[in-house]
Amino acid sequence: MEELKSIWHNYSYPEYQKLDTDIDTDTLIIGGGLSGISAAYYLSNHGIKTVVIEANKIGSGTTKNTTAHITAQHDATYDRYVNQFGQIKASIIAKANQEAINEIENIVKTEKIDCNFERIDSYLFTKNPENSIKLRREYYALKNTAITAFLTTQTGLVPFEYELALGFENQATFHPMKYLHGLAQCCCNNKVKIYEDTKAMEIKEGHVLTNGGHKITASNIVVATNFPIINFPGLYFIRVYQHRSYNAAYKNSNHISGMWNCIDENGYTYRNYEDSVIVSGQSHQCGYETDVFHYHNLKNHAQKVFPQGEEMTRWSAQDCITPDNLSLVGYYSKKKQHLYVMTGFNKWGMTSTNIAGRIIADLVAGKNNAYSEIYSPSRKMSISVIGKAAWSNVKMVGSLIGGLNHLSNPVCTHLKCRTKYNPEEQTWDCPCHGSRFDKLGNVINSPAIKRLDDNQTQPKA
Ligand SMILES: Cc1cc2nc3c(=O)[nH]c(=O)nc-3n(C[C@H](O)[C@H](O)[C@H](O)COP(=O)(O)OP(=O)(O)OC[C@H]3O[C@@H](n4cnc5c(N)ncnc54)[C@H](O)[C@@H]3O)c2cc1C
Repeated sequence: MEELKSIWHNYSYPEYQKLDTDIDTDTLIIGGGLSGISAAYYLSNHGIKTVVIEANKIGSGTTKNTTAHITAQHDATYDRYVNQFGQIKASIIAKANQEAINEIENIVKTEKIDCNFERIDSYLFTKNPENSIKLRREYYALKNTAITAFLTTQTGLVPFEYELALGFENQATFHPMKYLHGLAQCCCNNKVKIYEDTKAMEIKEGHVLTNGGHKITASNIVVATNFPIINFPGLYFIRVYQHRSYNAAYKNSNHISGMWNCIDENGYTYRNYEDSVIVSGQSHQCGYETDVFHYHNLKNHAQKVFPQGEEMTRWSAQDCITPDNLSLVGYYSKKKQHLYVMTGFNKWGMTSTNIAGRIIADLVAGKNNAYSEIYSPSRKMSISVIGKAAWSNVKMVGSLIGGLNHLSNPVCTHLKCRTKYNPEEQTWDCPCHGSRFDKLGNVINSPAIKRLDDNQTQPKA
């Protein structure tokens, strides 16, 4: 099978050494994606001695596979936030995200990070007249917030027809891996130590053991592994689930004005990067739809919208989804004040990881943070929200029973569910919590830490 690589792969990035000794630090961050490196950046600005360990290469998880729309427009969520949390909290969330865009721009400028940062508008749109009401509700939910939104039916912005769009002014795009590496360089300049190919295998009170057999002693430990890798306390494995999307970049496509996100069922998203357009869609819960040809469907769709477009590359990725569509950032559990978590970015991690990085740094430094309570993992969730999480778990139990058909498939090393073989990407995918393994059994996505049993990884017909 061809190697699937994201469009952000085209550069060679600096590498960091593997940890080869026991060390101690004030704060240890596990995971070198955008969340972990953002937290390290802000911690180092507070003068806190920080170490980041990354199982592979920094950014090699979801961050290198993102589409990198930097926007406060996270689908039609503000109407939902108003209903769930009330107008005041919804306005605070809007402010946090709009502020995060300014904050990223600020970092890019002051730290001189060359990462193609560009301000553009972002649009949610529908092709279905029945969904126009959703956009109108979202528009009204945004009144009295920090976001300037407008409804439009303007033609000529994109090479397809739509019924209605909701625009957000002054959002942004960038090259996420250039930004991440720029931020990592600033961290190093601020005395942060980054270790690659260094995996946390065991996390104990006050220390972590790595795959190289070394011990890192730390007063504070931040779990930034996308899906949290500690099951107890916190119970994140029943509070978040993983969702995948498929992406491709097409060169010689028509230029589109702004970033576009469709709210209709099975809708796609679009943005330009240099002379190409990145199309993303075919989303589904991880471990499901192993019999669907997602790349084929994506290509068919892209050929209709951009008939001249030539496919440059394609790839897929997953992110954690929370029942109330808001990230979980802060103390891992009420009982553990020196263990922190950053997760559940709901496929909107560009602004959310920036907010999360600042929250974690402020909590560790003992400073006030205006957003820490709203994003707290210990926040109360309403009955209807808990109902949604419960439904996800019913699906999970269903999949465990369904797993009886796959009794010969490898057992996931996270919580012993049966994985499913995914012929499209030649991976073993866990339908319970979204861990993924390559065909040889190596971990691709957390929460699993250990590889599959070697005796179990031969695909069955
Ligand atoms: C297809 C797709 C498109 C997206 N597009 C957008 C978008 O347009 N705009 C937007 O705002 N957001 C988008 N997102 C979301 C955004 O990309 C993510 O929220 C963000 O990149 C997550 O960063 P992270 O640091 O949490 O995870 P990651 O980047 O996955 O980082 C976690 C890191 O932890 C490491 N790790 C795991 N276990 C261990 C261990 N035991 N020891 C050490 N290290 C470990 C992993 O190797 C990994 O590098 C998209 C997501 C997807 C899936």
